[in-house]
Amino acid sequence: MDYDVIVIGGGLVGVSIAWGLSRCGQRIAILDEGDVANRAARANFGLVWSSSKGLGNAAYSRWSRTSTANWHRLAAELKAETGIDTGFVQSGGFSIRLTPTELERGIASMARLADQQGMDAEGTPPLEYEILDQAETRRRLPLIGETVAGAIFSPLDGHANPLRLFAGFHKALQQRGVHYFPHRKTTAIRHRAGGFEVAGEGWRLGAGKIVLAAGIGNTALAPMVGLSVPLSPSRGQIIVTERLKPFLSHATGYLRQTDEGSVLIGESKEATIDHQRPRGPITAVLAERALRTFPLLRDARAVRIWAAFRVVTPDGYPIYEQSERFPGAFAVACHSGVTLAANHALVLPRQISAGALSEDLSVFHSRRFHVPAAV
Ligand SMILES: Cc1cc2nc3c(=O)[nH]c(=O)nc-3n(C[C@H](O)[C@H](O)[C@H](O)COP(=O)(O)OP(=O)(O)OC[C@H]3O[C@@H](n4cnc5c(N)ncnc54)[C@H](O)[C@@H]3O)c2cc1C
Repeated sequence: MDYDVIVIGGGLVGVSIAWGLSRCGQRIAILDEGDVANRAARANFGLVWSSSKGLGNAAYSRWSRTSTANWHRLAAELKAETGIDTGFVQSGGFSIRLTPTELERGIASMARLADQQGMDAEGTPPLEYEILDQAETRRRLPLIGETVAGAIFSPLDGHANPLRLFAGFHKALQQRGVHYFPHRKTTAIRHRAGGFEVAGEGWRLGAGKIVLAAGIGNTALAPMVGLSVPLSPSRGQIIVTERLKPFLSHATGYLRQTDEGSVLIGESKEATIDHQRPRGPITAVLAERALRTFPLLRDARAVRIWAAFRVVTPDGYPIYEQSERFPGAFAVACHSGVTLAANHALVLPRQISAGALSEDLSVFHSRRFHVPAAV
């Protein structure tokens, strides 16, 4: 075998897992399609956010909260290893509600989330949040727009710079001697001699285990090893302003100021992957909501607008599984690869190295999509 593990996909999920596997002493290669690919890792909003996640799936809430709490360790260890500061700030996050109806819906949704069975488990930080009325929101965020109805605040939420996180992983991988192969689109995977042969145009490599971490590319790769990774189209658009004087020390669900001063305004959700280019009507809605939230943005110049495609399963929860037909082949697909980076780097690799995913992750098996239709 050329490697212990080949990770297919060098996006945020792939590099997080590869770094963790390397720390477990595994010999790793990462194969990536290259810059032609649609990459969520380079176009996301950068929230490290768990408070609103997991309605309908308490295990996802617990997994997100654990990762959010583990982020301190991830940021510190990456910085110690590479000198790269991921810009992680965990001063709490505000889910801003522009109208009374939005606020009521937010309160009801948080109450349903908190009341779910199985929300707590030993070692998982509790779900903590506060409901803030208009006056209290204004007291904590004095520059907020006058018509903002209120907010939900959670102390565990925060944000980071996803590009620096990505660069940190890549630098660490290089220093660790992990082999990173760009321009290696995997087109075939065969199970051979108790391991796997991974191949593309003019090349092939062997490993004892493989991890499919190819984002939306996983759908095509999974059947090659008896897995299924269904994904639903979801497009997101983000506006970035010029650098402004610091005015916002906390992340909010759709607006944050980076440590470099730029303000990120996002993010739309459209059920399509048809248009890569930003669309005017979406930009207008994002800008209008941002101005209602922080009127001081009226004078800010937008310097960039982009659109990208999320990696989202039909129910929005991740897929973590090992192939039953071809043990040693793992698939990982998820939204929130920034939030979950800490678990992907610090928790999951130990399980992949040991050859078995923990019972806690069984709820994320893709068999949940294979329910026979009622007759
Ligand atoms: C607009 C937007 C906003 C977001 N905001 C947040 C946020 O605030 N917080 C958060 O936690 N998450 C956020 N996300 C989600 C986050 O960006 C993704 O969960 C994460 O980047 C997914 O990483 P990935 O590695 O699975 O996919 P990708 O980054 O898409 O990487 C997949 C990689 O696989 C490679 N590949 C594909 N097919 C093959 C093949 N056959 N062979 C070899 N390589 C292949 C590609 O080259 C690519 O590099 C957002 C996403 C979007 C689009």
